[in-house]
Amino acid sequence: MPAPLTSVETSSELPTHADVVVIGGGIIGTFTAYYLAKRGMKVALVEKGRIGAEQSSRNWGWCRQQNRDARELPLSTKSLDLWEQFAADSGEDTGFKRCGLLYLSDSEKELDGWAQWGEFARTVNVTTLMLTAGQAAERGRVTGKPWKGGVFSPTDGTADPSRAAPAVARAIIKLGGTVHQGCAARGLETEGGRLSAVVTEKGTIRTPLAVLAGGAWASSFCRQYGIRFPQATIRQTVMAVSKGAPEIPDALHTADISMTRRSDGGFTLAISGRGRVDPTPQLLRFAPQFLPMFQRRWRKLAPGGLQGFQAGHEGLGHWRLDQPTPMERMRILDPKADGRVVELTYKRAVELVPMLKTSSITGAWAGYVDSTPDGVPGIGEMAELPGLVLAAGFSGHGFGIGPGAGHLIADIVTDMAPLVDPRPYHPDRFQSSSWGKVAEF
Ligand SMILES: Cc1cc2nc3c(=O)[nH]c(=O)nc-3n(C[C@H](O)[C@H](O)[C@H](O)COP(=O)(O)OP(=O)(O)OC[C@H]3O[C@@H](n4cnc5c(N)ncnc54)[C@H](O)[C@@H]3O)c2cc1C
Repeated sequence: MPAPLTSVETSSELPTHADVVVIGGGIIGTFTAYYLAKRGMKVALVEKGRIGAEQSSRNWGWCRQQNRDARELPLSTKSLDLWEQFAADSGEDTGFKRCGLLYLSDSEKELDGWAQWGEFARTVNVTTLMLTAGQAAERGRVTGKPWKGGVFSPTDGTADPSRAAPAVARAIIKLGGTVHQGCAARGLETEGGRLSAVVTEKGTIRTPLAVLAGGAWASSFCRQYGIRFPQATIRQTVMAVSKGAPEIPDALHTADISMTRRSDGGFTLAISGRGRVDPTPQLLRFAPQFLPMFQRRWRKLAPGGLQGFQAGHEGLGHWRLDQPTPMERMRILDPKADGRVVELTYKRAVELVPMLKTSSITGAWAGYVDSTPDGVPGIGEMAELPGLVLAAGFSGHGFGIGPGAGHLIADIVTDMAPLVDPRPYHPDRFQSSSWGKVAEF
């Protein structure tokens, strides 16, 4: 089943020209188009299904600096401010609030890791509070259990995945940009080796610049142009329960279970990192690059089934511009929730917070997390096709950094001073054999 999602009214009339076309209407594509429209660019955003309907509505909504890879931390710090600024500037509500994130643990090793990260965070002025056993028990009193310790990140927060991308899409339209749902970009045209147009199922938009924010579809799109972008998707399951008690922290993480208060008062529940890897032709192609990540996470990853192959986002075929592509056959990637994981998640949640016993299950869904081999997104203009900027592979933590990433991509497109150093994100790092630290959500 799809996750809850607000709808947004968009235009069926496609422009013939644009300064920039953004392909993909998730949180990354919408924020990119928003910042471009704010700079007075004529921007058109095309989305094959519904705004926000893939990963961007299926996630937990965490917007965190806590435990971030050093390369992503500056972007996440800026993003927290930008979530607030977006609401003030646009008048749209994404549900963002700085509620703080609470992590509890009984593992010395985990606590040591958090403490080390906290030392590093202090050097870049990020506040994170290590909790003693007593403080962890106090902040986690809803569990009624003792804890060895924990960490609280007071400046982090959550936004509402059911509202965020649609809210940003409305803001783009207010600024004069156009947004088109049910409109797959089938491919690109070039002139003199540079991008010259985006060809969609509803017509061609002439443009010198395009941003590919296609989430799980980005690698197969790139392959049409000989661009090698290693990407693998992991199928993760999430569930929602009805109203919980106000004493439950807004965002709580333990090794067994994570819970997040939803804006309807219920909770989103999930087991962090748990997922299935569906075998697909693309997975086999990039398997050598992903092996270190899979090895590190093997306890939490299980082999999947045919769903991924049938969905078509990881095929190796070539698409024609005058015929429907796999993206028109699969408007919204909507994998089935893993029944066993749903049962286990609910059991663990009730064990951790017994007062959830009175809640009822209101939904369960799954999403394909689009990952890169080093867990950091690929953002940058592609040397193979000048005019095309790639922005994908957000590896399970792209929702919270959506505003910062969108701003940075708009900076790259318009050649303005970048919000943060863009170099660590450039996808050309995947062409070398020197990998950075393997990160995990
Ligand atoms: C279960 C789960 C939990 C998560 N929890 C968190 C969390 O708590 N915090 C966090 O920061 N992140 C989290 N994430 C990750 C986060 O959701 C993603 O990193 C983020 O949403 C990626 O946004 P995106 O815009 O790149 O991709 P998507 O939201 O997947 O959007 C891509 C869009 O592009 C469209 N598209 C693709 N190709 C084309 C084309 N050719 N033409 C037109 N449209 C196209 C697709 O239809 C899709 O709508 C989680 C993810 C999952 C699945």
